[in-house]
Amino acid sequence: MAPQLQNGLNFSAKVVQGNLDSLPQAVREFVESNVKVCQPEYLHICDGSEEETRRLLEHMEEQGVIRRLRKHDNCWLALTDPKDVARIESKTVIITQEQRDTVPIPKSGVSQLGHWMSEEDFEKAFNARFPECMKGRTMYVIPYSMGPLGSPLSKIGIQLTDSPYVVASMRIMTRMGTPILQALGNGEFVKCLHSVGCPLPLKKPLVNNWACNPELTLIAHLPDRREIISFGSGYGGNSLLGKKCFALRMAGRLAKEEGWLAEHMLILGITNPKGEKKYLAAAFPSACGKTNLAMMTPTLPGWKVECVGDDIAWMKFDNQGNLRAINPENGFFGVAPGTSVKTNPNAIKTIQKNTIFTNVAETSDGSFYWEGIDQPLAPGVTITSWKDKEWSPEDGEPCAHPNSRFCTPASQCPIIDPAWESPEGVPIEGIIFGGRRPAGEALLGSGWENGGAGKIIMHDPFAMRPFFGYNFGKYLAHWLSMAQRPAAKLPRIFHVNWFRKDKEGRYLWPGYGENSRVLEWMFNRINGKDNAKLTPIGYIPAEGALNLKGLGDINTKELFSISKEFWEKEVEDIEKYLEDQVNADLPYEIEREVLALKQRISQM
Ligand code: GDP
Ligand code: MN
Repeated sequence: MAPQLQNGLNFSAKVVQGNLDSLPQAVREFVESNVKVCQPEYLHICDGSEEETRRLLEHMEEQGVIRRLRKHDNCWLALTDPKDVARIESKTVIITQEQRDTVPIPKSGVSQLGHWMSEEDFEKAFNARFPECMKGRTMYVIPYSMGPLGSPLSKIGIQLTDSPYVVASMRIMTRMGTPILQALGNGEFVKCLHSVGCPLPLKKPLVNNWACNPELTLIAHLPDRREIISFGSGYGGNSLLGKKCFALRMAGRLAKEEGWLAEHMLILGITNPKGEKKYLAAAFPSACGKTNLAMMTPTLPGWKVECVGDDIAWMKFDNQGNLRAINPENGFFGVAPGTSVKTNPNAIKTIQKNTIFTNVAETSDGSFYWEGIDQPLAPGVTITSWKDKEWSPEDGEPCAHPNSRFCTPASQCPIIDPAWESPEGVPIEGIIFGGRRPAGEALLGSGWENGGAGKIIMHDPFAMRPFFGYNFGKYLAHWLSMAQRPAAKLPRIFHVNWFRKDKEGRYLWPGYGENSRVLEWMFNRINGKDNAKLTPIGYIPAEGALNLKGLGDINTKELFSISKEFWEKEVEDIEKYLEDQVNADLPYEIEREVLALKQRISQM
């Protein structure tokens, strides 16, 4: 019998799995009110079991949404509509009463630090999209935890979605299912609503069997109501709402209220030849090497790196003043192109089974393929591109989309850290900031105290520009307040730039596993070794302190050169950017730091 909603409207969806009565009251109300709005035909409450996933994947295979990569165990390929291939920053908004709660009001032009939408505009946008948007489809209820279940640092979300691809991906990327509901009880959760925006019958045919609605795509965050509402896209960060939407934007806001940090950082453990271990976090913007560094194989003999997370860190000072970090995720949603046995052998081992690939190319013998995979093809094997066409290198187009992805369980990573699910988190002793600067910025530097502040808050401040959950000026103030905690043992701050190039456009530094040399220097510096020299822009390795043994010809002079001309312009840019973009919300401490940097550079 169909249950009745309080206001007397019929509850229209047929429950095909799970039991509404078993849901915590607040979850049930959340589900019922959205069933009423979205009008799905079926309701499926996910239990998170293997059997459930198997049935979902088979169902999608029958529908032609995914295909099996038969050379691997339980590996699948989804090809999307070419209009739905990436996160869409321009359609990602935060709704607060006041604009300034979301973004600093810039001195001129528009803010580059996020997009605000008014409550009224959101109301209209919602009503233009969601009523009856799931007609003929199944609404899945996904209870999930960001962070190990039961950790005091973890948070719970409930995502409603009409995409089975999202369900299968969330099962990899988060801990999900019935145990989460049991842990939740009457506790708080973040409400996540997602629809691909293609009610049945379709108004126009799907491309590649991939449901999406690019014209109406909108990814909205309502931090005051703890709600994330996403429409029109099935892809990655737009639809797997636990990731950037929850774990960075929403969590950023929660972290500010509750006194912790939600950051775009990998977490790794590094052990020296003596068996001494430290944990480091590193903030690099997207496509600047997080996944690679998190899983690196050190070339330095005797050193070991282990992976806690490759994208997001939730960190909080414990009672002893140690900065404790968890990886809120359960899987890796990594960029496929460029991943090879040479660049990231651990990623290659991780993705051999139980993995969902999106927009990579397929080999005729049932495996995955992409630019830079560096694998010779067996004779007679052909390639089908992400556009589902026979492909050859002469086509002049890449076989895999540059933003194609693997979605794979973290537990399969051969170097996953033994403490990666530890409920108290791992103690962070150093934080690395990095970016991609072809010129000017040295390979390696250190020091929050000496000019560090300026450098890490440039055009992609904290590698967080697309992921701020509130006003960036207030975010800076929150960081500064963390540093002022009485008992806090502050981690050392470092900067790196793997991407400096010579005049011919070649990378000056070999990178990847050789980055272990840089980690060694940091490790020793944290241990108090006097291995640095002070420059106007902070500390850099002292002569001979960076281990280059066996590396061959490295132009260290150019790698570490600090040009007055470059830095004069750089500090000018930083100053202008902060004045313009952060404006009235710029903390005085940062302003003073930039002025001091400017002065030091002028005296070079
Ligand atoms: P993420 O998006 O931050 O996780 O970045 P990835 O680890 O996926 O790497 C992005 C791109 O940078 C890939 O093409 C990598 O091959 C490349 N990359 C990663 N680490 C290095 C490095 O140390 N040196 C160079 N030159 N390229 C790197
Ligand atoms: Mn990555």
